Amino acid sequence: MVDTSLEFLRFRVMGIMSTMESLNEKNLQPLASVPLGRLRQNATRLHGVCRFNKGVDKRDVNLCPTDVREVALHPESLKAEWLEYAEFLIFHEFLHALGHGGHDKQFRYLEAQWPNKKAKQIGIDFAVHLRKRNAKFAWKCPTCDWQTERSVRSAGRYLCRNCKVKLVDCALRVK
Ligand SMILES: [Zn+2]
Ligand SMILES: [Zn+2]
Repeated sequence: MVDTSLEFLRFRVMGIMSTMESLNEKNLQPLASVPLGRLRQNATRLHGVCRFNKGVDKRDVNLCPTDVREVALHPESLKAEWLEYAEFLIFHEFLHALGHGGHDKQFRYLEAQWPNKKAKQIGIDFAVHLRKRNAKFAWKCPTCDWQTERSVRSAGRYLCRNCKVKLVDCALRVK
């Protein structure tokens, strides 16, 4: 089944990439056939991934989009408020697909050419959003009002920065 939101993103991102001078030398067309997918909804750290076919060496300088098994994005990033970041994620994974297996200097240079300069900051906000969404506990300071939401218990291991007293775990309702 065709995932229309992902196909729409691919279309947008390939359009933007085709206007980028830094990618002039690259043949972008094969990106049109890279399979797109979604990560599990409860993924926390991973926002996007470029999975290569079995046996492909990521350090191979001749990597190309036909070596890619799947580019997958966090499903939460496909919601309207994160779409600018989802575009950047696809772009990032497509750079891997175009032969840059790792995050070396050249990769970071190409990545920095993405015209939407807000995308990285949105990515930081997205990481915070995922952490909050997956939070099961609030670590609360019994003295001041400070608290932070986390997926694990603090279990007496952490002190309030201001009051130097142990933070207390409060279970959050299941979301
Ligand atoms: Zn990467
Ligand atoms: Zn405190």
